[in-house]
Amino acid sequence: VFQLSVPLNFLGSVYRELRQSLLDMETLFNLQKVNVSIKEAPNAKPLQLVHGGQIRFDNVSFGYNKDRPILQNLSLTIPAGKKVAIVGPSGCGKSTLLRLLFRSYDVDSGRILIDDQEIKDVTLDSLRRSIGVVPQDTPLFNDTVGHNIKYGNMAASESEVISAAQRARIHDIIASWPEGYDTKVGERGMMISGGEKQRLAVSRLLLKDPPLLFFDEATSALDTHTEQALMQNINSILKEKARTSVFVAHRLRTIYDADLIIVLKGGSVAEMGTHQELIDRGGLYSELWSAQETLFSADEDKKVIVGDN
Ligand code: ATP
Repeated sequence: VFQLSVPLNFLGSVYRELRQSLLDMETLFNLQKVNVSIKEAPNAKPLQLVHGGQIRFDNVSFGYNKDRPILQNLSLTIPAGKKVAIVGPSGCGKSTLLRLLFRSYDVDSGRILIDDQEIKDVTLDSLRRSIGVVPQDTPLFNDTVGHNIKYGNMAASESEVISAAQRARIHDIIASWPEGYDTKVGERGMMISGGEKQRLAVSRLLLKDPPLLFFDEATSALDTHTEQALMQNINSILKEKARTSVFVAHRLRTIYDADLIIVLKGGSVAEMGTHQELIDRGGLYSELWSAQETLFSADEDKKVIVGDN
């Protein structure tokens, strides 16, 4: 029995390894949002960011199913080098807009252009290399935390990895772990919190340093204080490098300083402008803002009460 159990155990572990590597492949595919139905144009040219990364949606309509349109005749411009926020009710198509830009899906009609080049005419590789996304839920590889950050740029040095983690405000936490950057994370590794995962995703993005940056609810799992500190770091990097960035956010406090806020509703633009313009307008944004501010002050009051006890 003993003799037999050794090879069986061995086979068991081979099986587990194999199964795990298949899971890793799956994660990788999800991460890269590989969609086989997206085809590169036969004479596709590399995307050239000649105007600093201006993004334009021109009369775009799209639905995951033909009978249920999500975006309808959407036209908007995201200026080069600016911070733009996309807000609106849940399910209005904010994440969809980012997926279309990354060409995870193709539009049903209309055009998406980056610096006047239609994205369906440029090589997929050049498009996706120009874009960095912090998605709502970032998959982690079964690997060390250092490698998980490095996935953003495999050629990065150790000090570049650390600097990205510092800017994403996760370095001190990693440094406090017994194995530091060699700590294994992912399904087989250490359990880490949603907020830590989000900051790893931000580190990965900062290391990739792409010309166009998309953040999809990238700080939603963080407490207000950490979120504000991280946003400050991100904002200063974006400003310094004049990067085009798009933030999808529910918590309006994280985006009220955006150069442009676009409010989506029912698959098209309900209103757009700066925070002050939208507040003065007294429309949907100002309603959302007032509702959140009421909640926020109620929370702050509670904290004061707890603090006094
Ligand atoms: P939230 O603020 O809740 O994240 P959102 O504005 O980002 O929402 P999307 O994720 O873009 O909304 O989704 C828009 C609509 O498309 C939703 O009704 C959603 O259920 C639907 N949808 C999203 N992904 C798919 C998919 N892969 N297949 C079919 N429908 C989808």
